[in-house]
Amino acid sequence: MQTRSFTETLPRRVVVREVGLRDGLQSVATLVPTAAKLEWIRAAYEAGQREIEVGSFVPARLLPQLADTAEVLAFAQTLPGLRASVLVPNLKGAERALEAKAEMMLLPLSASHAHSLANLRKAPDDVVAEIGRIRAERDARGARTQIEVGISTAFGCTLQGRVEPEEVVRLVQAVLDTGVDAVSLADTVGYADPAMVSRLFERVLRVAGDKLVCGHFHDTRGLGLANVFAALQLGIARFDACTAGIGGCPHAPGASGNVATEDLTYMLHSMGIATGLDFEKLLALRARVAQWLAGEPTHGTIWKTGLPKTFAKEAAHA
Ligand code: ZN
Repeated sequence: MQTRSFTETLPRRVVVREVGLRDGLQSVATLVPTAAKLEWIRAAYEAGQREIEVGSFVPARLLPQLADTAEVLAFAQTLPGLRASVLVPNLKGAERALEAKAEMMLLPLSASHAHSLANLRKAPDDVVAEIGRIRAERDARGARTQIEVGISTAFGCTLQGRVEPEEVVRLVQAVLDTGVDAVSLADTVGYADPAMVSRLFERVLRVAGDKLVCGHFHDTRGLGLANVFAALQLGIARFDACTAGIGGCPHAPGASGNVATEDLTYMLHSMGIATGLDFEKLLALRARVAQWLAGEPTHGTIWKTGLPKTFAKEAAHA
């Protein structure tokens, strides 16, 4: 019997997409000043990050933390080669993103009916219809803004509990039919385990193929990196992450947030997967983010201990 090493299927290079300035900051009460956000983006860029979600075009009264998104995006657009994205919840937000000439907008679509109603006050199929209108508006303007739909609560939901994989697959097909450029799967509340990730990504890959571009995992129950690994084995080569592991759930005080950028980078480098990121610079940035968020819980592990002596630094540049 021939044995095959699991490492044969792993991508050789992975993009770590920073979402701390959006997913992270929207869940903390502290208002990070615009100047600090620009410093954050510059430092992330200098550490090698080339994909950063910089904010969200939602009404400022709903998320005052992200009220300066237009200004932050304008700064990010001055950095050569940086793919800055913004989250938009509806056509109004999309119009602002198109006016700002954002390179990419991320549209959330909850697979959970209950979460969709609570979050966007629309059923999932009404959100799909809105996504269709956004795609039409983008094309009518001749804009080059890419549209990625992030399927949130794809693995379960705090309000509804179970989310059927069939429903996730159906919604992925529905948004692809509207003509969006890409889809991603998000474990918004930390309900996934590696077996679930493996099964759902496999099913969605069958309908989406290379349009399934990203995994978004929260470490709420400590399985964030294990879930990343399950998706890596299927060839997924882009993952969202937050510096200092911020992005905890506002309904569960103290809960871990997104997979920490620096922990994810450590795991990838340790496995010989290139990211283009400078680990020391990421750790220095983490320390500054923790200062800006003084009093807020931060997470992650590798910053406490540092790299092991056996760590092959050159693997990072393989
Ligand atoms: Zn998230």
